[in-house]
Amino acid sequence: MSSSQPEQHAVPRGLLALRSAWQSLARLARRLRGRNVLWSLLMLLLAALLGLLVWLTGRYEDDAVQDRLDFETAAIVADLRGALARNLLRLQALPHRQPSLWNEQASALLQQQRELIRLEWRDEKMALQLSLDSPRQLAAFSRMPREQNQADLNLACRAAARFQSPAYSNSYFVPQADGQGRELMELCIAQIESGRIVGYTVATYALSDLLAELAGPQLPRGRALAFTEADGTRLALHGQLGPGERLYSAQQLLDLPGNTLVVRMQARQGRAGLFPNPLSALVSAMALALVLVLALLVRDVRRRQRVEQDLGEALAFRKAMEDSLSTGLRARDLQGRITYVNPAFCKMVGFEAAQLRAHEQQVPYWPPEMAPTYRERQQDRHNDLAVLRGGHESVFMRSDGTRFPVLIMEAPLINAQGRHTGWMSAVLDLSEQKRSEERSRATQERLQASARLALVGEMASLLSHELNQPLAAIASYASGSLNVLQDALQRPPADAAQATQLAQGLTGAVQRIAAQAERAGKVIRSVHNFVRRREHQREAVAPQELLEAIMPLIALQARKLGVRIDVSVAPLCPPVLCDRTMVEQVLLNLARNGMQAMHSSPLDKPVLSLQVRLAEPAAGGANGAEDSTADGGWAGAGAWVEFSVSDLGHGITEAVAAQLFTPFFTTKDEGMGLGLSLCRTVVEQHGGSLRFAPQQPQGTVFLFTLPAARADAGTPS
Ligand code: ADP
Repeated sequence: MSSSQPEQHAVPRGLLALRSAWQSLARLARRLRGRNVLWSLLMLLLAALLGLLVWLTGRYEDDAVQDRLDFETAAIVADLRGALARNLLRLQALPHRQPSLWNEQASALLQQQRELIRLEWRDEKMALQLSLDSPRQLAAFSRMPREQNQADLNLACRAAARFQSPAYSNSYFVPQADGQGRELMELCIAQIESGRIVGYTVATYALSDLLAELAGPQLPRGRALAFTEADGTRLALHGQLGPGERLYSAQQLLDLPGNTLVVRMQARQGRAGLFPNPLSALVSAMALALVLVLALLVRDVRRRQRVEQDLGEALAFRKAMEDSLSTGLRARDLQGRITYVNPAFCKMVGFEAAQLRAHEQQVPYWPPEMAPTYRERQQDRHNDLAVLRGGHESVFMRSDGTRFPVLIMEAPLINAQGRHTGWMSAVLDLSEQKRSEERSRATQERLQASARLALVGEMASLLSHELNQPLAAIASYASGSLNVLQDALQRPPADAAQATQLAQGLTGAVQRIAAQAERAGKVIRSVHNFVRRREHQREAVAPQELLEAIMPLIALQARKLGVRIDVSVAPLCPPVLCDRTMVEQVLLNLARNGMQAMHSSPLDKPVLSLQVRLAEPAAGGANGAEDSTADGGWAGAGAWVEFSVSDLGHGITEAVAAQLFTPFFTTKDEGMGLGLSLCRTVVEQHGGSLRFAPQQPQGTVFLFTLPAARADAGTPS
């Protein structure tokens, strides 16, 4: 049972994973495909729309031309009809009873109306009485006799007689003398007097002249006007077609009594090529521009997509980076509200990002007792951007209430428009660093204590020699006093004067014993003071005090080695801010090294000089941090005090100089090689620097600086 359970879980989980992978793949494919299909559809629709637009524009142009042509044709037909009606009236008015007058008027009519080529007056039996041909035309019937073309005329006159109204004949072709022919049409007007037909006025129209004379002046250029039969056979033509690819034509019927003519007008329009007219060319150009814009839009969208993708990747990269950082990141707006924190910051303070962002007044990771100070400090810092650059230490509070030290570095947040919108801070948890600093400080202290003991160990023989003298003196004074007392017991003083003398003698001896004991005690106390572990704290100490504290110990060795000690402290030299025990050890170490160096190269007058003076401004701290003491308030207002220990010893070779401060480097048989490295550490811990230089004519000088204490710090007693 228990073995099958994991399998049961494993199978669905695997299937689930497979299914979700497949679904996301399908989704991606769908999205890609969908996007492409949409684009293709859009392009297709647009192309169809543009095609339709161009076609419709063409159609519109065609319709416009056609409409114009229809209108012009209708106007011309109306003109023709009006002109024919006017002619009819004038024909009806011809005086057939007075032949000469008829001739005169007919001649005038033929002169004026060029479309008329012949006028006749026939009697009621259709016999020709009078006739006149147009003087400007060749005689219509010169080639073919009139009698052969009378069938249509007879029909028209019969119709005119029957309906007692004018009638037109069908048109008919008559060959002409010039070898060509023309289509003619007759108009027959029955002359009725007292209800009886007395004759007929016959007018012959040449159809081509009818077009030229009556419609020609109104005909626009490039138009061809024709009379056609119903089947399209052209009877007469006037005008010439203009250039153009497309042929438009319009037809109208010219209804005349007895005959119906078809008037057809034709026109050409448009040039050969893709764009038949300017409007469609314009629309096509606009369509092309639209396609171009669309293409640009597609490119722009693609570019945007690429940028979006890049941006997404950059964001993902940034997020991964922020999430993997161990440094806390925090962004605040100008009102001090938190707008962003990274996971490392949340982990550091033990609050959720939402909790941190939700706060309005009280920042949850500020220790309540510090909040007012922090608020003020924050305001000050934000007012002075320069302060932000270096970073500052502070104390934060975790959600469980524990406090921990942090280093905060802040920078202004500038948005894309160059506006200052808030502050970005990097926060480092200093707990571990402080712990390791504490550990190393403790180790350093232990090492220093051991070095001190070793130093005293080295001096043990000197100490015993130094203590021997007072002890021997005490012993001899004591035994002398004992002898005097024993004598006094055996022979008590005879009188008061003797007793007084005895007492005075003994008092002197006991005073000497006390003085010697004091001397021995001093030596022991100085050793004890040097060796005992004191509270390590910085205080303002006068240089003179430091020198005096170690002088008994230096003197021990100096006496043994026959070295003279010169001490000089510059007047008005300020107290130094230091850990007294450590600095004493530095001085003792340097003095001891100097004396040993002089001992190994015998000299007439070995002198060790210890000097203290105010340092040149440039000779300040090792880090260039002139005011870098951690304990605020003790800073020496930028002044430094320089201590120098110079000897006339054998000096330091280059090989030795290269390793001088390396721990455990020594050239002495019984040396430990820790002295100088500890000295440098101590001096640098105080913010000062330790260096050395050769002395002329021989020897070495070691110099170190310590920060001067502020005047108001006072000197401890
Ligand atoms: P130690 O005194 O135990 O050898 P130090 O670190 O004090 O250790 O000194 C290291 C070495 O530097 C010495 O062994 C010595 O060779 C050299 N030295 C130090 N002070 C002087 C000096 N004043 N003159 C010449 N050599 C010196």
